[in-house]
Order: sequence, then C-alpha cells, then structure tokens
Amino acid sequence: MSQSLATVAYLGAAILFILSLGGLSNPETSRRGNLFGMVGMALAVLATVFGPRVSSSGIAWIVGALVIGGGIGLYAAKVVKMTQMPELVALMHSLVGLAACLVGFASYVDTSIQLQGAEKIIHEVEIYVGILIGAVTFSGSLIAFGKLNGKIGGKPLLLPGRHWLNLAALLIVIWFGREFLRAETVEQGMLPLTVMTVIALLFGIHMVMAIGGADMPVVVSMLNSYSGWAAAATGFMLSNDLLIVTGALVGSSGAILSYIMCNAMNRNFISVIAGGFGSGGGAPAKKGDAAEPQGEVVPVAATETAELLRDAKSVIIVPGYGMAVAQAQHTVNEIVKTLREKGTNVRFAIHPVAGRMPGHMNVLLAEAKVPYDIVMEMDEINEDFPEADVAMVIGANDIVNPAAQDDPASPIAGMPVLEVWKAKTSIVMKRSMASGYAGVDNPLFYKDNNRMLFGDAKKMLDEVLAALKG
Ligand code: NDP
Repeated sequence: MSQSLATVAYLGAAILFILSLGGLSNPETSRRGNLFGMVGMALAVLATVFGPRVSSSGIAWIVGALVIGGGIGLYAAKVVKMTQMPELVALMHSLVGLAACLVGFASYVDTSIQLQGAEKIIHEVEIYVGILIGAVTFSGSLIAFGKLNGKIGGKPLLLPGRHWLNLAALLIVIWFGREFLRAETVEQGMLPLTVMTVIALLFGIHMVMAIGGADMPVVVSMLNSYSGWAAAATGFMLSNDLLIVTGALVGSSGAILSYIMCNAMNRNFISVIAGGFGSGGGAPAKKGDAAEPQGEVVPVAATETAELLRDAKSVIIVPGYGMAVAQAQHTVNEIVKTLREKGTNVRFAIHPVAGRMPGHMNVLLAEAKVPYDIVMEMDEINEDFPEADVAMVIGANDIVNPAAQDDPASPIAGMPVLEVWKAKTSIVMKRSMASGYAGVDNPLFYKDNNRMLFGDAKKMLDEVLAALKG
C-alpha cells in the first residue's frame, strides 16, 4: 500500500472514530456508533499492517500478535459477565499504559534512529512524558481493577503528608527529566528513565489507593482519559498520526466524562486533577460505626409490593448495582409493560454513578428493550419524587442515601442523590442490610414511609410480576 493510500485510510478511520464517539453519546444511536468504531479500527489496522512502514517479514509478527491478542479478547468477551465489565475496562486501560512504557523504552534503546539537536530533544521529551503517563496509567489502573473487583478494600489509604509526598515525587521526576535530557549515551539515560518509571508506578498506586469508595467513578473515568493520553504519547514516539488522533480523542472524551462525573459527585474538577481525591468527601467510612444498621425497618412481601404498585398512578423505578448483579432488567421490563398497559405512569430515574461504570444502567435497560423515553437522568426527574406514589429501588444503595444531604461527616456528603424518600412510599429491594460500595449505612431504610423487600432482585421481581398478573 502506498503512503498516500495509507494516509487516506488513516483519515477515513479518524473520521469514523469521531462519528463513533458522536453515536455513543445517545442510546438510540449507540449501536451505529459501535459499528463505526469497529469499521474504523479494522481500517486502521489494515492500513498499518499493509502500509509502507511494515516490511513483509514484519507482517508475520503482527499477524501472530493479532491472533494471540484477538484470541484473548474474544475469550474475555465471551466469559466476562456484565457486572465484571468495569474491572475488564480497568484492566484494558492498564494494558494501554504498559504498551506506552514498553514502546518508550524500545524507542529509547533503538539506535537505528539517529536524531540530532532539537529533533533529538523533542523525541526524548516524548519518550520521557510517554513513559511517565503510561506508568501512572498502568499501576493506577491495576489498583482500580483490584478495588472494583473487591480484592482491594474500598477504604482510602491516606498516608501522612501524602500531598507533600506527591509534590516531592513531582520534583524528583522533573529533576531526573533534566538528567535524562542531558545524558549523552543510552546507558547514561537509562538510570534517570528507570528511576522516573518507578516513581510514576508508585504514584499511580498511591493516587488510586487514596480514593474512597464513592469517589471511584471519577478515578475510573480519569484513568480512561490517561489511557488516551498514553496512546497519544505512543503515537508521538512512533510518529503515527492516527495513534495521536485516536489517543487525543480518547483522552479528551475521557476528560470530559471526568468533568461530568465530578459534577455528578459534586467534586471540584481542578482539585481532582491536582490530586485532591477523597479528601473533599468527608471522613472515610468507619467500619462498625457508619456501616452498622441503626434502626428498625419494615419488611414487605412481594404480594404487598404488587398491591402497592397496582394501586399507584405514578411509579419511579431506581435501578442500581444490585439489578446488574441479579440480571433483573428483563423482569423489570415485564413489570413496566404490565403497569403501563393499565395506565400507570412508570419512569426510570438514573443516577450518573449508578452501578459500576458510566452508563451501566442505561446499557442494561436498553438490552431489556425498555423504551428510551421513560428513562430519565437524575436532574430531569429528581423534583418529581414528591408526586410519585411508589419509588421502587432495585439493588441501589449509595445513590439513594439521604445521609449525602443530611450528614456533613458522611463519606458521601455533598454527592447529589435521588430523593426517593420524598415519594409517598418507597420500596427498597436488596438481599440484606449490607451497605453499598461506599460502605455507609443508609437512613432511608428506617424512614416511616419506606418498606424493605428482602431477597435477590430477580427472584423477588419474578414474584412481584406473578402477583401483578395473577
Ligand atoms: P451500591 O453499591 O451502593 O449498592 C448496591 C446494593 O445492591 C447493595 O447494597 C446490595 O445489597 C444490593 N445487591 C447486590 N446484589 C443484589 C442482588 N442480587 N439482588 C438485590 N440486591 C442486590 O450501588 P449503587 O448503584 O446504589 O451505587 C453505585 C456505587 O458504586 C456508588 O458508591 C458509586 O460511587 C460506586 N461506583 C460507581 C462507578 C460508576 O462509574 N458508576 C464506578 C465505581 C464505583 P445486598 O448485599 O444487601 O443485597
């Protein structure tokens, strides 16, 4: 393939990626968005493999890597459950970071490129910054993976003087950057590069370990953004324009998502970028204190729940992580259909951080074919709870916790929540009195107008559906 044809193919792929991002911004166009992304990526890979920069002997290596990587990806896509998706995404981000580090070291030791003067400095800065972002992304994403799958506890690790530690790390990285650029041989440059990589790896670990449970969504989207910038840095090191464009698209869309997440969590974007995570959210969750149930609850049975729903004129459903665990979305849709057929006004209220990844609930409801026009964002529906007869909470906890508004000492203080307690009756469906991801008790459960429907969400909703139809 000639250089000009490869350039045209790259341009086409870049346009398809932009169309893909545009499509993914709306549930109705998201399938088309995915398709654009897939075609764009296929075009990009083909134009690279058959492009002028790959020799015929190199093709065998690339095909081998594609078969191994593609095989692992295919296997993962088949076995990973929907609830494990956020962990998988975190793991994928770590691979982008690792790739940026490896490409950085490889470009540095590659003596076939002999650059001089300003070009040499620019190339070395690209390598240094690329490895820096890559290493932070790699270790940070691995810790996020551990936190999301529960292998690492959600409690923030707050080292004494952690801001000073971060500042010291930054100064050391800048100093070693100077040493790296002054090095005359690869051997001399290796020491500062390695020291910086170790510091960046430790910083990534420290940054994410310091995050409290409820602030994790911001970190997940920040790491998403970092992985984009790591890919862009790789593009600079390899002089690959498409990788620069794609990385910048992922990096900037991830940054916009982080900004949206910060707003949703009532966190300051600047303090988040500056590393102020977790400190603005009050004290960390204390086990045996905030997490202990504090009051009496009123349990209900599925039949009573069905009666409450049957008598209601207006119902708001709040899905959360437990709906994803129980895979209850299809039964929820059946219940919604049944209620709507008899004229009940049923709507969904979606909290921006419900579940374990951005858009988690929207994906599940779309999969169950719930009509998009009854799925409302938090801002669109929060004021309507006082008019609702029933607010049905399905496997959600932190996102409906009134302590976020009432208790300034709560780890989730200041986070906007869905005000389900303002409905005439709220019903919370969960298996036990266990706390949610942030590890705090929920005063909603003890309110006079609240009922608890204990059990697995799918099983209980099946019973509610049977009672509604019976
Ligand atoms: P929570 O984690 O607060 O609560 C989920 C509840 O579901 C639990 O209390 C659990 O109670 C219940 N549950 C679990 N399995 C089942 C089941 N099979 N049937 C019925 N109930 C079940 O989830 P929310 O969606 O309310 O809030 C999301 C939390 O996750 C927030 O703290 C957010 O910050 C955090 N987070 C969000 C991310 C995002 O991007 N959306 C990313 C990372 C973290 P029980 O065990 O008693 O059943």
